Amino acid sequence: MARPAILVLGENSIETAERIRSALGEADIFGLQSRVEKADIPFSDFGGALRDLYEAGRPIIAICAAGIVIRALARLLEDKRAEPPVLAVAEDGSAVVPLLGGLSGVNDLARRIAAAFNVVPAITTTGELRFGTNLLHPPAGYTLANPEAGKKFISDLLSGEKVRLVGDAPWISNARLPFDPDATLTITVTDESREPEADELLYLVSTGHKRGRLAVIGLGPGDPLLMPPAVRQELQRAEDILGYETYVRMAGPFRPDQVQHMTDNREEMHRARHAFELAASGRSVAMVSSGDPGIFAMAAAVLEALHESGDPAWHGVELVILPGISAAMAAAARIGAPLGHDFCILSLSDNLKPWSVIEQRLDLAARADFAMAFYNPISKARPWQLGQALDIIRRYREPQTPVVLGRDVGRPGEKVSATSLGELTPDQVDMRTVVIIGSSTTQRFGRNDGSEWVYTPRWYGEGRPTS
Ligand code: SAH
Repeated sequence: MARPAILVLGENSIETAERIRSALGEADIFGLQSRVEKADIPFSDFGGALRDLYEAGRPIIAICAAGIVIRALARLLEDKRAEPPVLAVAEDGSAVVPLLGGLSGVNDLARRIAAAFNVVPAITTTGELRFGTNLLHPPAGYTLANPEAGKKFISDLLSGEKVRLVGDAPWISNARLPFDPDATLTITVTDESREPEADELLYLVSTGHKRGRLAVIGLGPGDPLLMPPAVRQELQRAEDILGYETYVRMAGPFRPDQVQHMTDNREEMHRARHAFELAASGRSVAMVSSGDPGIFAMAAAVLEALHESGDPAWHGVELVILPGISAAMAAAARIGAPLGHDFCILSLSDNLKPWSVIEQRLDLAARADFAMAFYNPISKARPWQLGQALDIIRRYREPQTPVVLGRDVGRPGEKVSATSLGELTPDQVDMRTVVIIGSSTTQRFGRNDGSEWVYTPRWYGEGRPTS
């Protein structure tokens, strides 16, 4: 878990905040600048501070009315992203109210805080109340191998299904679960890694001695011949493989003892934390990305999760990042060398940065005469951005400027073709395409087979070598 943040709005709450901090072992106390002197970190805008912490995935304990917290976070809640625990605590510690983050341990946190004040936490989660334990949050030493199956499993239990336990775990056998030896739902506790069955929750018990490993690896564009041997080796070594479903499939096939964890593409931080949890329990984990893991992919999310975490077990994990061939490199090589001189890579997605920043960067890169590779050029949710990007480039580059479109490079149905800035229209491009825009010196010429070569010479301006 990342380091908790305790927010206080007045000097009177400091004592309560300190008591919570000592109950949790570590936390930062954030205080409203105008009213609190003794905080670790001052803030001036409560809503802004709260939203920043929430987006950074920090557990949040706000010493104020629950309503204030709800209103401040409301606009962020539709997002599917994983929620950190969020709690409201009364100024005198008399009420501890878990609000968000049922899947990330808010109730455990509420219990620890409530214990420090000798009160009962206001837990409303049906599963936990009914069963007396949170199956999605096993105690230290146990790792849930398939958390993605957890929600349905618990709702099946709540709607009356029975469950049987295979293996040994007191925290499960002592829980108020509807046990029945003939049940189809199964909870398995084992120290042997394997693929979970349907209708099964699989818990892996760690010995606690082995040092876990997390490798963030790049598969390259898709062609197995373009996958680096170091990455291949890491895939052999891995006990758990995590990533967006398409890429996990691309990385396979796997042995029966290797556990595949496939998740939705959007849940990057959640996936990164899950990887650390597995690795911290002593397992060897591979996190897969297509292309290079450091280019619009998982490596940065993994480092962000680690940076935010104060958990020594996470920092003890052996973390390695193995590069792969990125889409722009693979597409460029198929058609020649369009990135042969200075270039830049830009993502046209405004999901994680404002469109105004993208426009400004495009403008400056076009003026600087960089060749450019566009990733995430267009999607159903972002239909107009590419057209606008091209309008900006066209202010500075001639219509005959060569453009390369690489679609599904290294995958079945690959198509890499050359066109020009004047002829390019957004409908020729989709989200599986990387777009390369030439600089003022980029050249095109025909090949024997009727296709074309595109290259950007090594020299620029006065720099042309004399022979
Ligand atoms: N880490 C990846 C990039 C992920 S961003 C890498 O280094 O390649 C996703 C974008 O990358 C896609 O929208 C597309 O623009 C580009 N892309 C990834 N793989 C591709 C491929 N095989 N062919 C063409 N474009 C690809």
